[in-house]
Amino acid sequence: MIPRRTIRIGTFAGIPLGIHPLWIVILGLFTWSLAVGWYPPRVDGIATWAAWALGLLSALLLFASIVAHEYGHAIVARRRGIEVEEIDLWLLGGVARMRGAARRPQDELAYASAGPAVTLVVAAACGLLLLALPAHGLPALRALVAYEALVNAALLVFNMLPAFPLDGGRVMRALIWRATGDPLRATRTAAAVGRGFGFFFIAFGMLGAFSGAPGGLWLAVIGFFLLGAAGAEALHAEAEELFHDVPARDLMSTPALCIAADSSVAQAVRDVMVLHPHPAFPVVDGERVIGMLASGRVERLPAAEREALLVRELTDFDPALLVTADANVAGLLDVPSFARVMRAAVVDAAGRPLGVLSITDVQRALVAHRRLAAAGPQVPRPRV
Ligand SMILES: [Zn+2]
Repeated sequence: MIPRRTIRIGTFAGIPLGIHPLWIVILGLFTWSLAVGWYPPRVDGIATWAAWALGLLSALLLFASIVAHEYGHAIVARRRGIEVEEIDLWLLGGVARMRGAARRPQDELAYASAGPAVTLVVAAACGLLLLALPAHGLPALRALVAYEALVNAALLVFNMLPAFPLDGGRVMRALIWRATGDPLRATRTAAAVGRGFGFFFIAFGMLGAFSGAPGGLWLAVIGFFLLGAAGAEALHAEAEELFHDVPARDLMSTPALCIAADSSVAQAVRDVMVLHPHPAFPVVDGERVIGMLASGRVERLPAAEREALLVRELTDFDPALLVTADANVAGLLDVPSFARVMRAAVVDAAGRPLGVLSITDVQRALVAHRRLAAAGPQVPRPRV
């Protein structure tokens, strides 16, 4: 649910840093609110340009401390054997993209608390600096340091709410995991609490907005984000846990319904796509699968162009979308193009189609497991 298209601005400690284009808008909003609302009441007679310059500087420092928080997570995660792809700044803050998950609760506990630990250090350092500054004079510097101390303290408190997937929720999940030895149960409990917080934020935020506090809407937005993210993370963590040693052949659907690369798009629509509403189809050249055709790409095409275009010209050739029968299902869930196309072709050693593995197949298996595990006498997993 977090957008993946980011502009890479550099690599620090071996981990690339990316920025979502819309983040510039957020930077502008912060600068504006600081230049208008924070500095003028605190610095007597401040010039407009100075308020804007300080606003921009404060906003950049805030984002620098968010980046430091994410690097805290990322560096500890990497040291614990979890691969970190990159760190992204997007609309609601930062995120460290990891591949795979912690295999031991102490690893998750370590990397989940590393980010808040960095934020705590930043907030405390700013607080101490504020105390060290002379009480009179240097009002602009005092206002700047006070803002960074305040905003980092607020970030710390918010991040440490036990609302999975916020950091506090991850810490809680790791603690339950350590206490029960059952990562699945820990994830379900943490996700349920996270959703609870989501509903609470939405209700409280809406109530605030209707009784004249428009800031409540922002809280409601965060609530909706938590609700979605808790569900998605829970599903992902659960799938990771259940399928880390399950090969694609066990979950794939057969036979693979393929489309010939050299047929026209219009013909493919008539013969296959309207009869089988799948999000994507393997494309074959002779006997070999060469890529996937996403239905979404065809839907956006005007009818006239469908006659003229060959399937080959719309095919997604990403090799990550072709997997062998032995490929690990949990590993596939981490592949960005699989998340985008929602299906992968399962092929034999010669590249011939064996079946199709879809996110729906994975979800079905997950639901079946939940039902059976909840009913089975040997593995009593309480549903939460
Ligand atoms: Zn964090």
